[in-house]
Amino acid sequence: MTHIDSLVAREWTDPKTTKPHILPIYATSSYSHEDLEQSIRLFTKEEQGHVYSRYGNPTVEATASKIAALESAGSTAQATAVLTNSGMSAIHVLVSSLLKPGDKILTQPNLYGGTTELLQKIFGAQGIDLVLTDFKDADQTESILQADPRIRLIYFETPTNPTLSCVDIELIANVGKQYNRWTAMDNTFATPCLQRPLALGVDFVIHSTTKYLNGHGNGIAGVVVGRDPELIREKIWETLKLTGANCSPFEAWLTYQGMKTLALRMQRHCDNAFYIAEALQKHPNISQVNYPGLSGHPAHSIAKKQMTRYGGMLSFEVRGGLEKAKQVINRMTFCTLAPTLGDVDTLVLHPASSSHLKIDPEIRREAGIGDGLIRLSVGIEYAQDILDDILQALD
Ligand code: PLP
Repeated sequence: MTHIDSLVAREWTDPKTTKPHILPIYATSSYSHEDLEQSIRLFTKEEQGHVYSRYGNPTVEATASKIAALESAGSTAQATAVLTNSGMSAIHVLVSSLLKPGDKILTQPNLYGGTTELLQKIFGAQGIDLVLTDFKDADQTESILQADPRIRLIYFETPTNPTLSCVDIELIANVGKQYNRWTAMDNTFATPCLQRPLALGVDFVIHSTTKYLNGHGNGIAGVVVGRDPELIREKIWETLKLTGANCSPFEAWLTYQGMKTLALRMQRHCDNAFYIAEALQKHPNISQVNYPGLSGHPAHSIAKKQMTRYGGMLSFEVRGGLEKAKQVINRMTFCTLAPTLGDVDTLVLHPASSSHLKIDPEIRREAGIGDGLIRLSVGIEYAQDILDDILQALD
């Protein structure tokens, strides 16, 4: 008879093995193997299967492969993905897998602030330097690449956080191919529902899945999606495994559940953001509205070419700088002041004092992030309720 002390410690199973309809959360750190032979086959990848959840986990891998399917939907582009424990770790895993000290990254000054900091501080300290350009001028981008063979990676974001400026994805992907450099793009703002960079020739897409893919603001995670399955499964996965940047099954599951409504949510985000952007354009206390869906937006034609719709993010510059921005944000009661984006409810943020606080003021100015700039992640609520709150705060 097995002692109760052993019984309490033993694993237990339900003999009924009916397949669950919904992907379960595999809350397990390791997987039991039939015998040492199978264990060796699994570790040497002679047999497909799991060994340890830092290496791989069914909930995590199902979520990653679903994102790869979304990023390659409707095209012949191959896509393989790995899920990471944040958007930042997705960028970190990607860049540290591809580059070595002495290599350089060509990027733009108006990235998400955390990305600029990561590239400058962490990779800069490892001897991987940044070269900045705005990617608007293809000739300039080409001449920078021609002059500097040490640039191995072109990294960009479109639309950008928080100024919503856009980069011509196909143009940059083609320049990358022509000069044999990798291209990587942050597709967090648009999501694969509105824009699919792999089909336009980009080598890697990253996301902070914390944002729209999850959509409900209840977890932090990221993803790297690539066209080359070998590079993703070997090199990038190895960095992820060795640095412990793996996503937890719970966060993966939250992302997986959230993604079921991504297409519906994005339509409503787009409807609402367009409605608000158009209305704010006419307001006397606002000097500028940044929304790529507006025909007057400097990158409207680029956005129109590569996005099916224009997304749920916008920003606007209030007249009166920091003091006025403070007043407006503090007076909002419907929109929530919270430093994230892509949730179902409307969120407001002051980039100069939060997401871009640590960015060199000169780079910040160059990126168009003034003290009066307010960013809005427009939710899926009733649009007039959102607008009424902003209008009463502005007036
Ligand atoms: N990329 C963009 C465009 C972001 O806005 C953010 C975070 O705000 C990140 C990457 C980093 O993602 P995470 O916060 O999930 O690490």
